[in-house]
Amino acid sequence: MAKNYYQILGVSPSASQEEIKKAYYKLAHKYHPDKGGDEKKFKEINEAYQVLSDKKKREQYDKFGRIFEGSEGTSAGKGFDFGSFWQNFSGQNFSGGFSSPDLEDILGDFFGFTHRTVGKERGRDIEVDIKINLADTLKDFKKRISIQKQIKCPRCGGSGCEPNTKLKECFTCRGTGRVQKIQKTFFGSFTRYVTCPVCHGTGKVPVTPCNVCGGEGRIKGEETIDVFIPAGVDSGQIIKIAGKGEAGRRGEKPGDLYIKVEIAPHKVFKRKGDDLFITLPLSFSKACLGGEMEVPLLDGRKVLLKVPAFTESGKIFRISGKGIPHFSGWGRGNLYVKLTIETPKRLTKKQKELLEKLQDEGL
Ligand SMILES: [Zn+2]
Ligand SMILES: [Zn+2]
Repeated sequence: MAKNYYQILGVSPSASQEEIKKAYYKLAHKYHPDKGGDEKKFKEINEAYQVLSDKKKREQYDKFGRIFEGSEGTSAGKGFDFGSFWQNFSGQNFSGGFSSPDLEDILGDFFGFTHRTVGKERGRDIEVDIKINLADTLKDFKKRISIQKQIKCPRCGGSGCEPNTKLKECFTCRGTGRVQKIQKTFFGSFTRYVTCPVCHGTGKVPVTPCNVCGGEGRIKGEETIDVFIPAGVDSGQIIKIAGKGEAGRRGEKPGDLYIKVEIAPHKVFKRKGDDLFITLPLSFSKACLGGEMEVPLLDGRKVLLKVPAFTESGKIFRISGKGIPHFSGWGRGNLYVKLTIETPKRLTKKQKELLEKLQDEGL
């Protein structure tokens, strides 16, 4: 275990808890096996985070360069609440839930816990990408989406039992939700408890499984959801909708839905933070003499911009408060207008004569 946990997370040994957490979320997301990431790397990252995010373990690691397992707070039977461990991802750029039982076992082994949390088979989290237009970010926006997922079984309402039938004790685990598993390792054979594969840890099975879902309490289906997208949202932002992920097994808690927002590029406006940028052509005469010009806004309206005399090409004007609304808090960004002097593509006879006169005047 002479691994450099700081190096694995790419943080300095003096990194704050916040920095460690941030680095971890980023890497965990990148290497999550559900997303085709590198499972080995993912485990390594988890291992590093488990140590560095725990004040006591981190101290021990800093001092001795390793962690002594099986010490305080990890007594067998106490279990490790993976549920809440993964809940920590709420609102973060993370999806997939904890769906790899092998990984769960391995993590459990690593931390010296003998069994997984029993009876909790929460539905999986879902991540959905949605694309909206830049103008949609000006106001709170509602978008209707349909997603294919595990939904609560309509026949049994999630219980997994045929109507008017009940659950009974699971025969395989005798209602404990756990079964023994013998594991041979380098150090010898160990007996450990794993979640009962028949009742999935609940200790109960339907007397007569539901005809539609076969006792699962959930089936594949489609749900239409109105997603509320707050004004000022930016590309890459994630909106969490609690409880709208996949239905849990037999009435367990559903997963969460994470909506990743992508904003389609606009033909005219560029966005940087909450500011908007636009480039407009300026005629040579207006640049010299000054005047007014119409500037389009993202919402389709127009404002007048005063162009002073002797404006140089490339000059940027600020129109305050005409950018994107701030996502958190009041106010809006600004609109920046860049004026570039345009050389005409063709000239009328009169324009040509006038320009020739200008030329004679030394312009
Ligand atoms: Zn059912
Ligand atoms: Zn069982």
